[in-house]
Amino acid sequence: MPCFMPISGWIWIFSSRIIAGYFKEMKIQNSFLINMSKKEYSNEEITIIWESEKCIHSGICVKTLPKVYHPQERPWIKIGNATSEELMNQINLCPSGALSYKKLK
Ligand code: SF4
Repeated sequence: MPCFMPISGWIWIFSSRIIAGYFKEMKIQNSFLINMSKKEYSNEEITIIWESEKCIHSGICVKTLPKVYHPQERPWIKIGNATSEELMNQINLCPSGALSYKKLK
């Protein structure tokens, strides 16, 4: 059975596919931007800077200071569970530079 659809129907189908593709692309870009985010966690002495896009998931942070790093929780860094010296020593072991710190005092 032949299907006759007016030209406006074809225009609607093609334009809706273009719009859907646009939003799909925006969603991918947004998730990429979210992954690129930089987060900071501070105590009174230092700020830990976390750059997720640099992480190579070696797990050294979790193995070295399991009381601080909880990847399944948010926030995943519990900065109050270690001294600033312990945190700085651990951050210096991060092989990718995803973790860094700045001293506040
Ligand atoms: S030590 Fe650094 S590279 Fe390894 S998992 Fe932790 S943040 Fe990522």
